[in-house]
Amino acid sequence: MNKDIKIQFLGGSNEVGSLAMVLEIDGTCVLFEYGMSPGKPPTYPLPPPPIDIALLTHAHLDHSGMIPWLCSRQDLSIIATDLTNKICSLLFKDSVKIAKMEGYAALFSNADIKEAEHSFIKVAPQQKRDIGENNEVRFHSAGHIPGSLMYELTGSTKILFTGDLNVIDTRLVKGTKPVSCDILFIEGTYAGREHPKRDELEKQFLDKVDEVVSRGGTVVIPAFAVSRSQEIAIVLRRAGYNVWFDGMGRKVSKLFLKYPRSIRSVDELKKAINSINFIHSDQGRKLALKSEVIITSSGMMDGGPVLWYMKHLKNDPKSAVLLTGYQVEGTNSRLLIDNGKLDFYGVTENVECEVGYFDFSAHAGHSELIKFAKNCKPEKIVLFHSDNREALAEPMKDFAEIYTPNNGEIVGL
Ligand SMILES: [Zn+2]
Ligand SMILES: [Zn+2]
Repeated sequence: MNKDIKIQFLGGSNEVGSLAMVLEIDGTCVLFEYGMSPGKPPTYPLPPPPIDIALLTHAHLDHSGMIPWLCSRQDLSIIATDLTNKICSLLFKDSVKIAKMEGYAALFSNADIKEAEHSFIKVAPQQKRDIGENNEVRFHSAGHIPGSLMYELTGSTKILFTGDLNVIDTRLVKGTKPVSCDILFIEGTYAGREHPKRDELEKQFLDKVDEVVSRGGTVVIPAFAVSRSQEIAIVLRRAGYNVWFDGMGRKVSKLFLKYPRSIRSVDELKKAINSINFIHSDQGRKLALKSEVIITSSGMMDGGPVLWYMKHLKNDPKSAVLLTGYQVEGTNSRLLIDNGKLDFYGVTENVECEVGYFDFSAHAGHSELIKFAKNCKPEKIVLFHSDNREALAEPMKDFAEIYTPNNGEIVGL
């Protein structure tokens, strides 16, 4: 094994956010991800050293959000799928808008975003490319969201970097499979927590929607515009609900359809999109308030149209807000789950409508992560992207040497 591998997390080693990691191998400096945490205020990774190549697993802002800033400072080539590139452009522009709205200084401009767009090198699962003189990188679908990749480096040491991964088939994407390696870098968003069975979860979710609609209420589903919205839309379409859609999800849905190989069933997604009422105006929003189901951003309720809907429905006991994803500490949806309150642009108010949580995660759960890691047969495992790495370190010790580096710490592997 190559003894000269050095890594440094610039952010996101011990939290779900602001991810960035530098890997030095055979004299080549590789950057994995360069994200941000869109909290209040937003947080960012440390600045990186000069980089030879950047590998981006997928478009979520906690992995990609600061790439335009980086492109404004370094001449960079970023490897990612074309779909990731396209979704990133939408999200980057949106984050400049949000920063302005929230009164934070945007750290990059639309010109920097253009620069970033031109820095992408398009790759696809099953392909490979040379990195430096001694290494090759191979691309595997990560099963997390459409366009997401895992990176396998094959030189004297085989390295796998998972980014966010999922092993089960969801309505939108197919799950991924283990890749054998010497050193495994694996995310741990769901360390210590298991997911319910997907078919049972869908049934419970649809039963709840049915209960709320039958009593005359409206269901509000805050969801990320990328992936979760479409997943939920497919589930609801199959059950025949009248669904309204507010936010960036329409553009993203149309993008997904242009990349049919990243989607599990184009037919299912098309049917869902064709059955949705997309909202473009205040008039549309008023109509949606009287409808059965509204899917809207932002997923963690820190802004976006969801707060407008909640303002109108929060005191209606017949209505419900159903959360469908991971609620990061310090976000508005976490406040809702823990304390039954929401922050409306600086004013905290009680929420009296029903609040439910359904774990439609796009991440592998605790046991799935352990099984995946074991089947990669690594000698060493580096855990990251988790606020509970100990929960994974303990059982994984049985089959590999475990590393849990802190942000900023330089570790030789
Ligand atoms: Zn993600
Ligand atoms: Zn992530």
